[in-house]
Amino acid sequence: MGIKMPFVSEIAPDTFVINEFGLAAMYLVVGEKRALLVDTGCGVSDVKGLVERLTDKPYDVFLTHGHLDHAGGVGAFDKIYANERDFEMIRSVNADELRNYCDNLGKQGGYDVFDYSPDMVKQITKFPEMINVDDGYVFDLGGRTLTVIAVSGHTPGGLALLDEKNRILISGDCANVNTLALWGTVEEMKTGFEKLKKLSDKFDQNWNGHVGYAGMPFICSQPKTVIDDLIHICDLILEGKAEPTESNFLGRTVTGVNYGAARLVYDPDHIRK
Ligand SMILES: [Zn+2]
Repeated sequence: MGIKMPFVSEIAPDTFVINEFGLAAMYLVVGEKRALLVDTGCGVSDVKGLVERLTDKPYDVFLTHGHLDHAGGVGAFDKIYANERDFEMIRSVNADELRNYCDNLGKQGGYDVFDYSPDMVKQITKFPEMINVDDGYVFDLGGRTLTVIAVSGHTPGGLALLDEKNRILISGDCANVNTLALWGTVEEMKTGFEKLKKLSDKFDQNWNGHVGYAGMPFICSQPKTVIDDLIHICDLILEGKAEPTESNFLGRTVTGVNYGAARLVYDPDHIRK
């Protein structure tokens, strides 16, 4: 027994977050003329059907980055927008890895809350056409725009979206309470966080790619201090003053530093270029 469908919350006018069983969060942003789906989840649910029940407008599909829990549902679409530096990652998404990921988060508490099974993950039989977008690209939805902000670090081609009208940042996995430096050095992570900090007078909310995680079905924007806290953590590591701790991430022991509301997980051998 549990929640059988991804659940949807309207977080601003015509702006929806879709929580896919605590595995990933997607966003549907609807303008006067078009809509944009941000990320496609794990391929464990019918996101296309859900989007088409939420809006009757034509829509495009955008990926914040190429990780499997964001690109897992691309097989349902003909065309997606993403950064080319993550294209190879998107093309390598496969059902076995997705099923493992879904099962891992289920065992971390997801199965207590949500009624899904890893067997529901569909194999991608045809990848969509991929269109490269980069820093400064603007999606004009009619009456509202979304501006692309390139923030590499979590992956090489990570992208965030700024909705200036509603003062919302959709940040994918690039700046949240548990940010993973899976690709970039700590130095590169800091550059990305500082870029977002410079834009911080343009947004009040920072919605990430995992609102509600595993068995924690709450939905929320990231704490206001999270970008400052992440920059402070980078400084501590770069100055050799950090006190790292170990934690478990999907069955692996990882190293991270906590400060304020944030934790940065990083590779101690990958601090500077
Ligand atoms: Zn990710």
